Amino acid sequence: MPQSLLRTVADHAEAYLEALPSARVTPTDTTAADVATVPATLPETGLAPEAVLEELLGATASGLMGSAGPRFFGWVIGGGLPASVAADWLTTVWDQNAGAFACSPAAAAMESRVGAWLLDVLDLPATASFALVTGCQIAHVTALAAARHHLLEQAGWDVERKGLAGSPGIRVLTTPHRHETLARALRLLGIGTDSQVHVDTDAQRRMDPAGLEAILSRTPKVPTVVALQAGDLNTGAFDRFGPLCEVAHRHGAWVHVDGAFGAWCAASPAHRHLTAGIGEADSWATDTHKWLNTPYDCGFAAVAHPGAHRGSFEMAAGYVIDAGGQRDAMNFNPEWSRRARAFPVYAAMRSLGREGIAALVDRCCRHATALVERVGALKGVEVLAAPVINQGVVRFLDPAGDDHDRFTDRVLAAIQADGRAWLGGTTWEGQRVMRVSVSNWQTSDDDVSVAVDCVRDALAQTRASTG
Ligand SMILES: *Cc1c(COP(=O)(O)O)cnc(C)c1O
Repeated sequence: MPQSLLRTVADHAEAYLEALPSARVTPTDTTAADVATVPATLPETGLAPEAVLEELLGATASGLMGSAGPRFFGWVIGGGLPASVAADWLTTVWDQNAGAFACSPAAAAMESRVGAWLLDVLDLPATASFALVTGCQIAHVTALAAARHHLLEQAGWDVERKGLAGSPGIRVLTTPHRHETLARALRLLGIGTDSQVHVDTDAQRRMDPAGLEAILSRTPKVPTVVALQAGDLNTGAFDRFGPLCEVAHRHGAWVHVDGAFGAWCAASPAHRHLTAGIGEADSWATDTHKWLNTPYDCGFAAVAHPGAHRGSFEMAAGYVIDAGGQRDAMNFNPEWSRRARAFPVYAAMRSLGREGIAALVDRCCRHATALVERVGALKGVEVLAAPVINQGVVRFLDPAGDDHDRFTDRVLAAIQADGRAWLGGTTWEGQRVMRVSVSNWQTSDDDVSVAVDCVRDALAQTRASTG
């Protein structure tokens, strides 16, 4: 490989990252028209690496979202901590297959270290098994495959051998507020979305333990998963894990927790009360590419029953070298060949330390509260959900008084066109709203001020154009 190629990339990367904090967040061309400069059909002859790089840079520059930067508040998207980005580069260069210990002893051993760190920081049992996967979506699939194994084994059904046809059905007790990736995991696992039964919620949209108790005692002996949330996508609300796990376990149910970002509150002394009792669940799913700020992609699944976890994924293949009791990741993952995700996770956690992770969580929560409060103080803004942690919901009121949904969407379009900050919309409780998420390690007080200015100007402009 020509040495200058990687140097060119390093120079470009440095310039990109230096410009990012002050750059426009919205792509300069939201249609990414420049990608049309890439041939529509693959040419017969190849291109020199330098020329490929040049074409790639030219084709993408106008269509890149500044989501790695400090004024991106859409969806729940973290940035990349410097040490983690650097380690991710090495991960690519080393190109290890982290599926088996024998393929890369260093990757496998580091993954065991990092797995133990994650269990510890997230306040989960040290004896839990785990998997580093692509994201929380596949972490759900991984954890719920273990749940499926465990529940059906108890019903005398070997799901890995027999499949699901003819098995006792699994029921999933959850709330309407659960994330859509949970439902998709049920689709992929053959459990099906019809398996979901909604349990009553309280005023804070948390599952009601009495409601759970009522369903479980009314229909006992149904293999049951109770799916809880650490951090509601819109409000950041947390289910009460202690009481809910107590009820679920008394009835033999499996408790799964979606903690895509909220699980990280366990790392902060100031926010840890929200995750109290989380370690009593049976499985957990979270991300490192959200709140820990590793680059994409990495999620984390943990299972309190390593036998059930391994039982659903274990692979025996003649060419696998016995690792002498070492951990082969493929026995816990839906993939065989896979990226050595432990390296960037190691780097993020090691560079922050426990204090740094706590400070990152606390800072994002503080900024989210400030952003929602300050936007909420503008005329014609209604705060629908003030942040519990780093997420909040507001909407913009139509001065003519008749179509708040349309007005909110127009303000959002104006914010995105402005580009100083990026905020997105969603439909929540039947209304169009703006959802705020602060998940980036770089976001500062100044960034919050710039975002508030951006929203204020977009609001004024939309009002003026409404006339
Ligand atoms: C983002 C998110 C997911 C899905 O995570 P991916 O990393 O996108 O797969 C699941 N649950 C919640 C609450 C989320 O915020």
